[in-house]
Amino acid sequence: MSTLEIKDLHVSVATEDGPKEILKGVDLTVASGQTHAIMGPNGSGKSTLAYAIAGHPKYEVTSGSITLDGEDVLAMSVDERARAGLFLAMQYPVEVPGVSMANFLRSAATAVRGEAPKLRTWVKEVKTAMADLGIDPSFADRSVNEGFSGGEKKRHEVLQLALLKPKIAVLDETDSGLDVDALRVVSEGVNRYRESGDAGVLLITHYTRILNHIRPDVVHVFAGGRVVESGGPELAEELEKHGYVRFTQAGAPA
Ligand code: ADP
Ligand code: MG
Ligand code: MG
Repeated sequence: MSTLEIKDLHVSVATEDGPKEILKGVDLTVASGQTHAIMGPNGSGKSTLAYAIAGHPKYEVTSGSITLDGEDVLAMSVDERARAGLFLAMQYPVEVPGVSMANFLRSAATAVRGEAPKLRTWVKEVKTAMADLGIDPSFADRSVNEGFSGGEKKRHEVLQLALLKPKIAVLDETDSGLDVDALRVVSEGVNRYRESGDAGVLLITHYTRILNHIRPDVVHVFAGGRVVESGGPELAEELEKHGYVRFTQAGAPA
């Protein structure tokens, strides 16, 4: 059982005109076994929240706290966050030319587990996870994210979920750029991870369609750098019908 707790989080990003406050007091608690969806209009700060949780150097936490089971996440290095059980799938995953997926995943597993997985069992583990996700075996030999299609990048993310088994996974726009088939495969991967144990998921998305495949327990509406409303899956249905107008009109929290 794990809990990610975010309290009154304020985050600024460095711009040419100086620091700009993007997150203006985010409160959010995700426990293992739960899936929370964060939905919000473009530019509302969803990715900034993901980057702040991950410890991206460009995003400065000016006040508030992030803890995982009471431990101060903000005091941890990026590696320590991964080792503590946090996983962040980037909206724009980086390419790492010359590093094969197989090696990359083994390094990631080594960082998370604190020791290198035995080569023989590791190869088997990777092959099984890839087969489960319908990933072509040649994928293991390719350079990380280089020339990957949108769907392949997302498959790579859920492959990491299967292998690294984080306590809490933050998935930013996992559905963007996916065709219907890829969306189904990726969603199945996330659902398998959810069912594999006590996993918690923070699913960040602009569109409701992935929520038809991955049913959230809680839906949060994000606008103007904070959570402005929380509810059950029916909140996503309302957004599907009426969009974000109610939350972004003049008078709504900015
Ligand atoms: P979302 O993911 O909800 O679309 P983002 O977190 O990407 O929102 O962006 C929120 C706001 O912060 C936007 O106005 C965006 O332009 C600004 N922002 C985010 N990152 C940076 C950055 N590195 N430099 C300048 N502005 C940024
Ligand atoms: Mg955006
Ligand atoms: Mg974003």
